[in-house]
Amino acid sequence: MHKRKLIDSHGRVIHKLRVQITDACNFRCFYCMPQQVQFTPSKELLSSSEIIDICSNLVDFGIDEMRVSGGEPTLRKDFCDIIRELSRLAVGRLGVTTNGFILKDILPELKDSKCQNINISLDSLDQNTFKKITKTDYFNKALESIITAQRMGFHVKVNMVILRGVNDHELFDFINFSAQYGVEVRFLELMKIGPYYKNHSQLFVSAQELIERLEEREELEPQSVNCDSTSFNFHTSSGAKIGFIASESQPFCGFCSRLRLTATGRLRACIMSEAGINLRGIDKERYPDILQSVMGMKPTERIDHIKQPMYQIGG
Ligand code: SAM
Ligand code: SF4
Repeated sequence: MHKRKLIDSHGRVIHKLRVQITDACNFRCFYCMPQQVQFTPSKELLSSSEIIDICSNLVDFGIDEMRVSGGEPTLRKDFCDIIRELSRLAVGRLGVTTNGFILKDILPELKDSKCQNINISLDSLDQNTFKKITKTDYFNKALESIITAQRMGFHVKVNMVILRGVNDHELFDFINFSAQYGVEVRFLELMKIGPYYKNHSQLFVSAQELIERLEEREELEPQSVNCDSTSFNFHTSSGAKIGFIASESQPFCGFCSRLRLTATGRLRACIMSEAGINLRGIDKERYPDILQSVMGMKPTERIDHIKQPMYQIGG
């Protein structure tokens, strides 16, 4: 079958899919989860075969890159089955975003799959600060997963959400970490999503501020990236590979190439909006109309905030 292209009315080629397979998580990152949290019951989540069917259909209509996320995607017992099945689809890149808790144990299985792009969240290199942010004691597990994945040859990126007064003093620790292990570290601006959408300014640090702090000690060599890349990247004079995701201060909506599938089967147009259409149980013949409608829901300008937390959106 000749593969179709998804192009929205603003000329944006939509070819990436973020696949949320659960909203459940064993961490409680304070900027991601509210204090009282309720997860979707397992029986309401898409089954693995529903996920594969929907993703397979979307590939036929133009999706060629997928990233599996959550909640914590590796908590699903059928996580490796899902990855194995997604690996059979005609996608050029398959990735996962994870907190690293279980990851180390399943890396050998992932190594035999198409899933070679692993983003691991690590907001602190200090055990106490890690606990303050995640409310868990799993620092060593996350760290070991990162180091093992890197040694096994996966494309590893460490995601660090920078939070003023909480972990922003660790900027150079992360630079040293990147240089020491050869792992790319990406600094994420806190987005106005979820628990901190209102009190965002008390924790927010811009990418520009970080770059200015870095330039006092390091030379930054810009690296080229695809035009729909969410990050801008540098190599530093001390040997670190870093990126910045400046979703708040330098939004990239004009180049967005992404749709999102939620864990209950809703195809949504944008991280900042709940607008979307259910794909669960929908015949493939109806996909072209639904895709057109969902792409029509894609905003061109940045929506200011969303109260829905990231773990429910599929980060
Ligand atoms: N549990 C997995 C993890 O932590 O990597 C995957 C899901 S998590 C929601 C995906 C990413 O979203 C994490 O890197 C997390 O730090 C980030 N995140 C959550 N809330 C955020 C916010 N308000 N602003 C920026 N990033 C956020
Ligand atoms: Fe869980 Fe990831 Fe949210 Fe942390 S950021 S609470 S690990 S979903």
